[in-house]
Amino acid sequence: MSELINKIYANLNYQKQFGNLLYVDKDVKVKDLKNEFINEEVVIKKEVKSNNISKNSVNKNWDKSESLDILRSNIHNCMECELGATRKSFVFGSGDPKSKILIIGEAPGADEDEQGVPFIGRAGKLLTKILEAINFSRDEVYIANIIKCRPPENRRPTKDEVDQCEPYLKKQIELLNPEFILALGLTAVNTLLKGDYKMKDVRGKVLEYEGRKLLITYHPAALLRNPTWKRQAWEDVKQLRAMYDEYMGKNS
Ligand code: SF4
Repeated sequence: MSELINKIYANLNYQKQFGNLLYVDKDVKVKDLKNEFINEEVVIKKEVKSNNISKNSVNKNWDKSESLDILRSNIHNCMECELGATRKSFVFGSGDPKSKILIIGEAPGADEDEQGVPFIGRAGKLLTKILEAINFSRDEVYIANIIKCRPPENRRPTKDEVDQCEPYLKKQIELLNPEFILALGLTAVNTLLKGDYKMKDVRGKVLEYEGRKLLITYHPAALLRNPTWKRQAWEDVKQLRAMYDEYMGKNS
């Protein structure tokens, strides 16, 4: 009798911890308990991480930064959106701060998150080759992203994340003062132009962004998935090179 009572107590304890799943088929039970447990763990981790988000992680005068280095040091601990809690590195941007060309992608990926430098993974290597094909080294341009921290699983950044992070890019643009911006992919274009454009609407055109010439081409990651688009991308970057040469010819 006491053995039976002990079993009942033990079952009630399990039920308290794991819910009614205890009472379903044995095989399903083990699997489902595991899933429920893992999900619970993920939720707890998320809560811990979001509790770590400090609203004081950015210098409150960051928007008065007078150079890129100062801007970087003012915002590099940013935790203003959830991506701050999951990133390994804050990826500010790299290249020549005096360059007339700014290239803007979407967000850091896994390699960039590891090393804190934009466009160094597979897509980044392709971007480097594309630049070399029009006789630019990476060090002659400046490369940044719409957002500075990697979204988990390389998902698209959410609107809230973009809204939170875009002011940093705007400040970067103000300090860099580029003549030309090359936007890579639709996230970059639609963030800058506040639209919902398709690639066919904007590619091959010279648009304007705050008094600067804006050209658009495919993101290198998209070119890796669809190599047939490389020919169009080649036309786009050749156009950038020609416009740059013309500008330099007139202003040197
Ligand atoms: S993505 Fe931008 S806003 Fe979000 S934590 Fe990183 S730097 Fe801050």
